[in-house]
Amino acid sequence: MSNICLTGIKPTGALHLGNYFGAMQPLLDLSKKTEFDKFLVFVANLHSINSVKDANTLRAYTQDIVLDYLSMDLDLAKTNLFLQSEIRALTELTWIFNSLITVAYLERSHAYKDAVANGKEANMGLFDYPVLMAADILLYNSNIVPVGQDQKQHIEIAQTIAKKFNSQYGQFFIIPKPYIQDNTAIVKGLDGRKMSKSYNNTIEIFESADSIRAKVMKITTDSKAPNEPKDPDNCNIMAIYRLLAKPEELSIMESKYKEGAISYKEAKEILAETILEFFQPMRNRRQELLQNSEYISEILSKGAEEANAIAETNIQKIRQLIGLK
Ligand code: AMP
Repeated sequence: MSNICLTGIKPTGALHLGNYFGAMQPLLDLSKKTEFDKFLVFVANLHSINSVKDANTLRAYTQDIVLDYLSMDLDLAKTNLFLQSEIRALTELTWIFNSLITVAYLERSHAYKDAVANGKEANMGLFDYPVLMAADILLYNSNIVPVGQDQKQHIEIAQTIAKKFNSQYGQFFIIPKPYIQDNTAIVKGLDGRKMSKSYNNTIEIFESADSIRAKVMKITTDSKAPNEPKDPDNCNIMAIYRLLAKPEELSIMESKYKEGAISYKEAKEILAETILEFFQPMRNRRQELLQNSEYISEILSKGAEEANAIAETNIQKIRQLIGLK
């Protein structure tokens, strides 16, 4: 049986550093570990429709995330990239899980409560998000799910659903584990809060170089003068720089901070160039892919075909277990 790693990103706008370091880089790390032999990577377009209501916008966002994923150095021999909406058994499994889990339990979801508190429309899709996510993970009997800290509770909900199903109908689901790395669990945005589209504090990976430079200059800092010693452990510029810099560059920067040998303005300039340099190979590859839509369609249809094959085998067994067959 395969040892499966699964991950997905919602197409709701351009990819930012939080998505990359929270969910994409861990995927790359795991793909270098031999114990995982299958990687299921999907564009979560069914999750998006509770907020993105315009068809062309959804299509454009979806294409963007596909390009973003393919511009990474994914090992396509063991990775299936696909659109969530191509998996026929997924909504059926969501429905089965809906009948297993209580409303009171789902009402505890932090993400749901936050979204409603922030004035988001509380449609059923938003409320049921964790159940669809549980189906995303469990349908393939995934072992591990690389995510940022914000998704930890959703993984716990998937674990609860798996256990409840197993005790109700007999052992079937593997209990999936989150893969959350301490240093990238919560990537901070320009204002020091969690980087998030809803806080308008993001740095997008593929925006223009000038726009990245301009955004970095807006990072909030305290008002220490250029020659005053600064605290590298308590600085929004350093919080991002730490994710990207090579160890020797990082220690030079930390010393300069402590000695008062660098201004925040200079530190921001270094950060902006480091971001651009870090993502340059991905930017180049993405540019090449833009000319190659046939190749992209082939990858997506092969990805969906192989994911559907696993999904179909499992849903047949699930139907048998619950008496639908
Ligand atoms: P979403 O855009 O909500 O679909 O998120 C896609 C992935 O990026 C999920 O695994 C999130 O946990 C992760 N993510 C989003 N924002 C951040 C952040 N600021 N820090 C760490 N991970 C994040």
